[in-house]
Amino acid sequence: MARIVMKFGGTSVADLDRIRHVSALVAREAEDGHEVAVVVSAMSGETNRLVGFVDALAADTKNGGAIDDEYDTIVSSGEQVTSGLLAIALRRRGIKARSWQGWQIPLQTDGAHASARIKGIETLAFNQSLKDGIVGVVAGFQGISPEGRVSTLGRGGSDTSAVALAVALGADRCDIYTDVDGVYTADPRIVPKARRLDRIAFEEMLELASQGAKVLQTRSVELAMNNKLPIRVLTSFRGIDELNPGTLVCEEKKTMEERVVSGVAYARDEAQISLLRLRDEPGVVARVCGVMADANVSVDMIVQGTSRREDSANLVFTIGKRDLEKALSALDENKDRIGYDSVLVNDKVSKVSVVGIGMRSHTGVAHTMFSALAERNINIEVIATSEIKISVLIDADMTELAVRALHSAFELENP
Ligand code: ASP
Ligand code: MG
Repeated sequence: MARIVMKFGGTSVADLDRIRHVSALVAREAEDGHEVAVVVSAMSGETNRLVGFVDALAADTKNGGAIDDEYDTIVSSGEQVTSGLLAIALRRRGIKARSWQGWQIPLQTDGAHASARIKGIETLAFNQSLKDGIVGVVAGFQGISPEGRVSTLGRGGSDTSAVALAVALGADRCDIYTDVDGVYTADPRIVPKARRLDRIAFEEMLELASQGAKVLQTRSVELAMNNKLPIRVLTSFRGIDELNPGTLVCEEKKTMEERVVSGVAYARDEAQISLLRLRDEPGVVARVCGVMADANVSVDMIVQGTSRREDSANLVFTIGKRDLEKALSALDENKDRIGYDSVLVNDKVSKVSVVGIGMRSHTGVAHTMFSALAERNINIEVIATSEIKISVLIDADMTELAVRALHSAFELENP
């Protein structure tokens, strides 16, 4: 007997037929004698619909003040619905099941509404219920704040609910069911020859997720990695008896190192800001980053270059597109303190990254990458690297061309 956490995303519970199918997948594990905890997302599109309500009301007046605590109350409700529906579907199959809301477990978080972090999970009652043979269907994405309010874990957060629960329960397996059959070398909609990977290392998955691959919430991968909990990503869109190997996200193995690059990711949600003729003196980049941090804007890529004048420099950095307005007004308010001449914005950019733990021990990756882009006449605005990743910022119109070029330059179509 094993203890299993199964997580189903929004498309997997999109309607009653999908929920019935999910109940069959869950029932099979329960009937095999396993202890099963299930984490569900809201029906696909539901969270966006709820966010829309909040945004519409919030737009009524500009001087409304904070609303994030009520935002959480509203947007977390989609998961309440699917947890109850799946529990009923399971009971109709003769499986003992009950739903659990975040506050009932309780899954405790900090007070950062809309992007709360998990502080702890009280497993006593939940554990007992599993031991009594009752499948626990948990509403993902939500928890309870120190003030006793509903909190949510950020968009895509039910992946993190599932991994955290698996860690807390000491689960043997954490299976994340989605609408793709695993993690691919690139987005198959852009690269038809993209391949499903059998395994991928935590570090690679973490880079791919944070560079734009949307299969798993970045924080869930971080949590799995820190706790050495392997996760399997697989599809819920196959018949119960069909083969469904998925992709195992796990610690790196020798065989993985032979692969230099594992995947290509892209993100279209960044904007590039250039500050021109900054005073070239110690502390200036720190001031810019400080202003961004105070405005709650996270800075991704940064390059500083010299300008034509000796005493000044140019600073180019990228931020999330949705933070653009916030960032620009913060820069404007602090113009004198930072000391720059003018600011340029480009939001028609995208970031394309190649990721692979093999980069640690192989040379020539940068050369292959930049040559492939140069051959297609793709101009690079900004470059950023880590030990296992190289990212470039390019014209958004070139995204697809670049992803395909890199996929074939690293021969990712060949196993
Ligand atoms: N329903 C939430 C969202 O759409 C959480 C999740 O699906 O993981 O972001
Ligand atoms: Mg998701």
